[in-house]
Amino acid sequence: MPALAGSSPSTARDLEHLRHAIDLSGRAVARGDHPFGAVLAGPDGTLLLAAENTVVTDRDCTGHAETNLVRLACRAHTPEFLRGTTLYTSAEPCAMCAGAIYWSGIGRVVFGLPEADLLRLTGSHPDNPTMALPCREVFARGQRPVEVVGPLLAEEAAGPHAGFWTEQ
Ligand SMILES: [Zn+2]
Repeated sequence: MPALAGSSPSTARDLEHLRHAIDLSGRAVARGDHPFGAVLAGPDGTLLLAAENTVVTDRDCTGHAETNLVRLACRAHTPEFLRGTTLYTSAEPCAMCAGAIYWSGIGRVVFGLPEADLLRLTGSHPDNPTMALPCREVFARGQRPVEVVGPLLAEEAAGPHAGFWTEQ
């Protein structure tokens, strides 16, 4: 399959970290939150941080997995270091999370489920009325590049969403 326009090649390590993020999205559901997870890997590919969605349990509408992860990352690392890191997320970052990633200095994003697929899954669900704004469009308006890889493993990433938005 040819690479998507604007998408860089992924590695076996990328898929490993992305599967970890997808696994966390399932764990978030088991805890009573929404099915989203994210992890951060260092320049050498080692796992640094992990986060899950906490919108329900924290009663925080900004508690998306990526935003939670960015908060942890900024407390632990400098923007200079974060430029060499990769954020893996089970679903494409929304506009808020893409903004948080931009402000953090994180240099690369790998995502599973594309936002358009998530929008089809959630519909207009009041708890998650998904936006229709690809993260590449958000990053394109910034003053520094953020490399984006995805969608990858979209079917696996959709797994924890099965029935979630229709049975609430
Ligand atoms: Zn988000």
